[in-house]
Amino acid sequence: MITAERKPIEEIMEYVKPYKKILLLGCNECVTVCYAGGRKEVGILASALSMAFLKQGQKVEIDELTLERQCDPEYVEELARTIEQYEAVCSMACGCGVQTIAGRYKDKPVYPMVNTKFMGASERQGVWAERCQGCGDCVLAFTGGICPVARCSKRIFNGPCGGSSGGKCEINAEVDCAWQLIWDRLKALGRTDLYEKIMPAKDWRAARDGGPRKIVREDLLA
Ligand code: SF4
Ligand code: SF4
Repeated sequence: MITAERKPIEEIMEYVKPYKKILLLGCNECVTVCYAGGRKEVGILASALSMAFLKQGQKVEIDELTLERQCDPEYVEELARTIEQYEAVCSMACGCGVQTIAGRYKDKPVYPMVNTKFMGASERQGVWAERCQGCGDCVLAFTGGICPVARCSKRIFNGPCGGSSGGKCEINAEVDCAWQLIWDRLKALGRTDLYEKIMPAKDWRAARDGGPRKIVREDLLA
């Protein structure tokens, strides 16, 4: 899932201070799971903003709404009848949601309320860790299901580097060396033959580094 964290209230106040009526818009998907921008967080931010405005002696109307998915035009269309009454939309979705709203309602200011972090997985309650960088050409089949792009600090494809020590990465003693994890996993699977194969230089054109990407599924086109 995509992980995010709410922006500091001071930054949010800077964005919204010119407005007297705003829509605080949550999203029911990833940002709900990581407790950054779901219905509950919309309520918490609405209260925090109301108090902050009150302290400044300002009266601002804040409405709350949570869409099923802000990155899906079908749900974003639900705003068509009501969005006109707001001076600005404060989106608590990830950057994809913010841009979908901004793209559909071109004359409406849309502000991000969260910082989108990474594609990750939950390690335990309250802890998420990066697991994929969307490189566009997944190699997990050869690395025991552990990603060398997201989890190796140098994105090495034939690791480990000389900085690996005691199973930890040289950048930080608390960070596991991804290639140690890959080795351990391949050993457990009885597939160390995969480790012995030299992986070819990666073609980064399929990755974000090759420009904005799109998926077009011909079979799903109307
Ligand atoms: S190899 Fe690429 S697609 Fe696969 S998990 Fe890593 S970054 Fe994601
Ligand atoms: S120590 Fe391991 S994780 Fe860190 S950069 Fe080297 S190979 Fe990658």
